[in-house]
Amino acid sequence: MSVYLDHNASAPLRPEARAAITAALDACGNPSSVHRDGRAARARLETARGAIARAMTARAEDVIFTSGGTEANNLAIAAAKAAGAQRIIHAAFEHDAVIAPAAASDLPVEIWPVRSTGVADLDWLEDRLARGGDERLLIVLMAANNETGVIQPVAEAGRMAREAGHYFHVDAVQIAGKAPFDFAGSLAHFAALSAHKCGGPMGVGALIAACDAGVNAQIRGGGQESFRRAGTQNLPGIAGFAAALDAALADRDEPARIAAIRDAMEARLLEAGANVTVWGADAPRLPGTSCLSAPGWLSEIQVIALDLAGFAVSAGAACSSGKVRRSKVLDAMGAGAEHAQCALRVSYGWSSTMDEAEAFASAWIAAHAKASSAPALRAAI
Ligand code: PLP
Repeated sequence: MSVYLDHNASAPLRPEARAAITAALDACGNPSSVHRDGRAARARLETARGAIARAMTARAEDVIFTSGGTEANNLAIAAAKAAGAQRIIHAAFEHDAVIAPAAASDLPVEIWPVRSTGVADLDWLEDRLARGGDERLLIVLMAANNETGVIQPVAEAGRMAREAGHYFHVDAVQIAGKAPFDFAGSLAHFAALSAHKCGGPMGVGALIAACDAGVNAQIRGGGQESFRRAGTQNLPGIAGFAAALDAALADRDEPARIAAIRDAMEARLLEAGANVTVWGADAPRLPGTSCLSAPGWLSEIQVIALDLAGFAVSAGAACSSGKVRRSKVLDAMGAGAEHAQCALRVSYGWSSTMDEAEAFASAWIAAHAKASSAPALRAAI
């Protein structure tokens, strides 16, 4: 097995999550059944809901379980549209889980520019809102970027959106369990979460919908999740999600430990004198995320070379087609093609060690030197 440095694509399952999943699989009962086993299942469901709500500073009744972050983003956009949003403004670096449902919503979409630091441009938003207009907007901002890890000013954006009477949705998929996220403090109407980014299982997530934000079910059927998302809940997955978040928040030293590992790796690459740029380093970042670019060394070639050397890293957002695409995030930051086509995301997390980071740095430096001396491997950009 390779050294796994792709936590932002999907983190390894935490032992606490595995134990909670196994316990839930071993217990029987549908949370909607009225008998004792059903009531016990309902109690486990509500305990998990309460834990996730507490971790995100939200009310338990505002947490709607979904199949993951993608569904939660879709649900938020549909809910805002049903509630009267007439236009969507989203940051240029949003994930496809926001961009695609926004584009499919039939509402006009405006792109909110991003600064070269990787932070969404709040001055632009302020000017845009001051220009006014009669339309009610849905403003969308991710809490932390999936490629650079840059933490976004969601509380400021939320205040501006609320003061101007607009809807505000936060894609909190990457931040949950890695850095603090305060749903109440963000003033968001909605926030999307996903379990597998913080050590829970894949295929489960949640939408938090504030009490003043109605949600019409997009998946219709039974009355689960207070008629906001039909279908029997994935109780083992939900229990694993809550246990993963609890474990992440219980270890107060974890973020600093992970940041030290990431920083040591970046320092070694920079010291080696290679032509490498670390993106987002001048802004607050998630502790484990490193976005690197090495002009002339195409992303797909980097990923393959490092895979052969035994390291699982990626070029950016995990794409369902398995293809490596140029970094839309670096494009949004105005980095230029020589960086956007040659980007690499290394993401550490709860299971990462300093030895792994050092081994990765050595492998990267060796692979980069080899690529630099073999013109056939170098890209013609
Ligand atoms: N939003 C962001 C920022 C992500 O990074 C991802 C996953 O890569 C998603 C949404 C989608 O989440 P899920 O995989 O749970 O559907």
